[in-house]
Amino acid sequence: MLSEFDIIQRYFTRPTPGAVLGVGDDAALIKPTAGMELAISTDMLVAGRHFFADTDPRMLGHKSLAVNLSDMAAMGATPRWATLALALPELLVQADEKWLEAFADGFFGLARTHQVELIGGDTTCGPLNVCVTIIGEVATGKALRRSGAKPGDDIWTSGQLGDAALALAHAQQRIALEPGEVLACLPALHMPVARVELGQRLIGLARSAIDISDGLLADLGHILECSKVAAVIEMNAIKRSAVMEKYLPQTVAINCLLAGGDDYELCFTAPRAKCGKIEDLSRELGVPLTRIGRINQGEGLVVLDAAGKPIALEARGYDHFRT
Ligand code: ADP
Ligand code: MG
Repeated sequence: MLSEFDIIQRYFTRPTPGAVLGVGDDAALIKPTAGMELAISTDMLVAGRHFFADTDPRMLGHKSLAVNLSDMAAMGATPRWATLALALPELLVQADEKWLEAFADGFFGLARTHQVELIGGDTTCGPLNVCVTIIGEVATGKALRRSGAKPGDDIWTSGQLGDAALALAHAQQRIALEPGEVLACLPALHMPVARVELGQRLIGLARSAIDISDGLLADLGHILECSKVAAVIEMNAIKRSAVMEKYLPQTVAINCLLAGGDDYELCFTAPRAKCGKIEDLSRELGVPLTRIGRINQGEGLVVLDAAGKPIALEARGYDHFRT
């Protein structure tokens, strides 16, 4: 049976050349680059709440870091360091050391891609729970905030929305996808891609940004509240997959597209004059960037259907304390 210290030593201690001191002391030490501010964010994934307890550990390791990278992307920050707090059921550690190996593989695979170093954490026995804190850097005063949107700004989203929520709806039998469609949607749920480079490149172009983790309506809603503005978006302009397109007449699918969550795409606003530069950036990065609407004065969010008629909206995105 592995001890806590074996687990840390064997699975979570890796070289950290970008830190002054990594795993093994009472605290890690980091030295921010001159002229940069630190961007810090934490996201917790709870078994049974954010993922099924039997989720492939490699995917869980990947996702636990990806959702945090997405927050760095939304700020335009460069992720540099992370800490990992893990609660592991005793049974899981006893029965299957492969679980930890696969989890660490998923985590460090993505960490390597983004040159993020794991510099510390906490390991305890308990119901499966994965909590990552990420620390990034962004040039002083330049971070993309939720509060910068101005009337007249275009509203943009990256990638396509709703596939992760469709895969989840299928798993929960709220919609019945065909086997090929499940395969097409599952990667969005299990292996989200954080738009880290896009976020950094939006500095100087976007006036506000957020990552879509709780659904477009809820997250765009945060921009509107923080910026004290209103918005109109066009349902038809929102980029979606062929699978989503097929099911869109169904209310479940509309909810997945607008309020599903787990997208980890960026929603940002930018002055119309930046439109050409943003389209160039989209081509350069190979990331679809789509204009879905406009920021207005006032308050509230209106979604127009193909005929230009406002859609009645019930679902507003995921809220842990609302059923
Ligand atoms: P302390 O009791 O002083 O908090 P711990 O025994 O919890 O120290 O941790 C020892 C070292 O291992 C610390 O540097 C801590 O940051 C690191 N650590 C613990 N768990 C993890 C983990 N899951 N991933 C990375 N580092 C970890
Ligand atoms: Mg500790």
